[in-house]
Amino acid sequence: MTADVPDSHPRAASLRTRDRLVEGLENGLTSRTGLIAHGRGEAFDYLLGERTIPSADRAARAAAAHLLAADHPVISVNGNVAALAPERVVDLADATDAAIEVNLFHRSAERIEAIADHLRAHGATDVHGLAGDGRIPGLDHDRGICDADGIERADVVVVPLEDGDRAAALAELGKSEIVIDLNPLSRSAQVADVPIVDNVVRALPTMAAHARELSEAGADLDGVIAEFDADAALADAERTIREGSLAD
Ligand code: ATP
Repeated sequence: MTADVPDSHPRAASLRTRDRLVEGLENGLTSRTGLIAHGRGEAFDYLLGERTIPSADRAARAAAAHLLAADHPVISVNGNVAALAPERVVDLADATDAAIEVNLFHRSAERIEAIADHLRAHGATDVHGLAGDGRIPGLDHDRGICDADGIERADVVVVPLEDGDRAAALAELGKSEIVIDLNPLSRSAQVADVPIVDNVVRALPTMAAHARELSEAGADLDGVIAEFDADAALADAERTIREGSLAD
């Protein structure tokens, strides 16, 4: 384990994050392919300078406005998110009154149970995902399963690290979709109403902070939503990655 890495180590945060994922694998939360997906994300994060760029912060604010304005907001949680940021998922759900649903690419009742338990251990009170009585049309059987009173009826969904097919199928359903993905070129980011090109461990607390600030200010949520430009945010993230300007 790398938990004893000193703070001064240039990759300290990244190495500790890896520890959480490996622990998640050992505890039955994360899949082995989840580790590889994380590696792809790390490469983009390195090029972003492992920070929240201003356009991602604006996206997180728009996402918070969507969640606050929603009737049935849902945060979808997979094995990587559960291992990396369980307390941050619960805090965002608290800040926005959103439901939490465990929804896995490789569905297994055992892993859903383990993830739900882990989220409860971090303060979640109501975790959806096990019922599996809803459908996302256009996906083959297992991958299209969701909860009828969770993702199926949601009007706004947060899908961190989602696979492109499912992100596209959710978008087809007319739901407002908030995607957290470090790759601005991934299909998930491209189909999102609000793509947040940032590490999920940073994006979740950024969204929660914006949600609290927008609520306290009694902000014009529709105005915040309308002024966000998804294409501009994606283009800005791609430019930042390609230029690799790590120190601005
Ligand atoms: P898509 O199917 O959307 O075109 P993909 O095939 O690259 O993209 P996967 O391999 O299923 O997607 O999932 C990995 C995605 O998750 C990558 O786009 C990666 O950048 C992103 N990712 C991995 N770890 C994180 C993280 N900690 N925070 C945000 N995004 C992450």
